[in-house]
Amino acid sequence: MESTSTAPSDQYRRRVLGVPVDACRDVQAAAIGLHARGGGQIVTLNAEMTMAARENPRLGDAIAAADLVIPDGIGVVWALRRQGVVVPRSPGIELARSLLAYAEAHDWKVALVGATPQVMDRLRQLLKQDLPALRLVMSSHGYQPQDAWPGLEAKLRVLHPDLVLVALGVPRQETWIARVRRACPGLWMGVGGSFDVWAGMKKRAPEWMCQLGLEWLYRLGQEPSRWNRILCLPTFVWEVWRRGKKR
Ligand code: UDP
Repeated sequence: MESTSTAPSDQYRRRVLGVPVDACRDVQAAAIGLHARGGGQIVTLNAEMTMAARENPRLGDAIAAADLVIPDGIGVVWALRRQGVVVPRSPGIELARSLLAYAEAHDWKVALVGATPQVMDRLRQLLKQDLPALRLVMSSHGYQPQDAWPGLEAKLRVLHPDLVLVALGVPRQETWIARVRRACPGLWMGVGGSFDVWAGMKKRAPEWMCQLGLEWLYRLGQEPSRWNRILCLPTFVWEVWRRGKKR
């Protein structure tokens, strides 16, 4: 695979309801450019998370300190468009997958943290088949006992992975990364339910629903227990609408 790099100027930081988000031409190039500059945290922002960040200062601080915040949800893309910033939606699951392929091609060290033990076992098997040369230096499920976490975090700091994908759910994955990655190189990215999808335990919405911006509805159908998480969406729409072109 061709090596890609990007100038920092390709990335413009904007705000949606006060929460930062980066408009960039190519999120994969931006991520690889960030790796070349010493690494950092990547956040995948959607409307739900934007609203959560306004309520939860620890999540808000983690997003504000992140080095690359990509517009993962259609609501964030729409809010940017109202400010005159036109960017495509960049699903985090797709960026994470493309970074794994890049990691294999460039001999990056990769660590995976999160999801159930069953999902992590399945994912290890699948990655061996799909990306046989991937240098997986650590893979730990996300249901460790409390006293196992300090050891796991210390191991990560010693291993210095080039890419750490973390599936612990929002907001835990963002705040955990913000704390653990300090002084560590590499790209650290929260990936939510991506491991579950890759392992075949959950499905992504069909393409036509993604095109219509209805991925959230599909997820709700698959996991009805998420209903309370979308209650904030009408407020998001109203607030963005009310603010007009303001950030
Ligand atoms: N998870 C975990 N440890 C926990 C709680 C959750 O590893 O203590 C994992 C869970 O198994 C799933 C992911 O975190 O793989 C969260 O997925 P979800 O789709 O809920 O992500 P979100 O919508 O919060 O980004």
